[in-house]
Amino acid sequence: MSDAATDDVTEGFPRGKLMRGKRGLIMGVANKNSIAWGIARQLFAQGAELGFTYQGEALAKRVRPLADSVNASIFTPCDVSDDASMDAAFAEVQEKWGELDFLVHSIGFSERGGLQGSFVENTTRENFKLTMDISVYSFVAAAKRASALMHNGGSMITMSYLGSERVIPNYNVMGVAKAALESSTRYIAKDLGPKGIRVNTISAGPMRTLAMAGITGGRGMISTGKEWSLLKEDTSMEGVAGTALWLLSDLGRSVTGEMMHVDAGFHAVGMPEEEVS
Ligand code: NAD
Repeated sequence: MSDAATDDVTEGFPRGKLMRGKRGLIMGVANKNSIAWGIARQLFAQGAELGFTYQGEALAKRVRPLADSVNASIFTPCDVSDDASMDAAFAEVQEKWGELDFLVHSIGFSERGGLQGSFVENTTRENFKLTMDISVYSFVAAAKRASALMHNGGSMITMSYLGSERVIPNYNVMGVAKAALESSTRYIAKDLGPKGIRVNTISAGPMRTLAMAGITGGRGMISTGKEWSLLKEDTSMEGVAGTALWLLSDLGRSVTGEMMHVDAGFHAVGMPEEEVS
């Protein structure tokens, strides 16, 4: 790859050697706006060798050029609702690399109808199970398979949102799933700790992605997130990706079972100043 192309894909992300010699799997790139893609660019800028899974053929066309631009050595489909598909993806990692240093899990899904209005009225049994399966169980299932390939320790991250801890309008069943995801992170960290594998969650502020577009009032979440935040700014991809780099590199040594807010300080606000002035 030419330097010009490398400059372009790593633009805005500090370059260096923190991830040199490390190989990792990125799960959850759908397009160039995906949080997983921002994280991938930062890890590439620091010398990581990357592999990508994508949900299915419909997304391959969009994800392939992105993977190519960071010289990905693995590009394989993986529908996390299907054990056989997960087995096949990790079998490919086993075959091509034989080992793994890190895992990025950046996957979530819920039916649109469950992400609006009343939580009590709009949460069906079917969508509750689907949301938990794709947004929570998939991390447990991926951690099991990835850890089997982490022969020299490793690091894993998943993505959450404040709706796990506070009531956020319309986030509903996804908030419940994120609470379970954060809890799962701690239990996975407990099991894998003795193998030297660290497991952490990043709780990111609202960002303009495909998943966000599925949430009623997503735009309001973004504008309120900025207005009420301590920094008075949007959550940046660079900030989220930088935290991912910290947690996935040796800089994050000794950090596990943690949940890190990267949201311009929004989580710390109890009441916005405007409401009392
Ligand atoms: P995105 O739509 O780009 O990413 C979601 C990914 O989940 C997609 O790549 C999609 O293909 C994948 N996915 C869904 N169902 C799948 C399945 N059955 N098998 C395999 N993959 C599947 O949106 P994003 O915002 O980058 O979301 C990534 C993660 O970040 C999600 O867990 C989301 O909840 C979380 N998050 C997003 C925000 C935000 O504001 N965008 C904030 C905090 C946390």
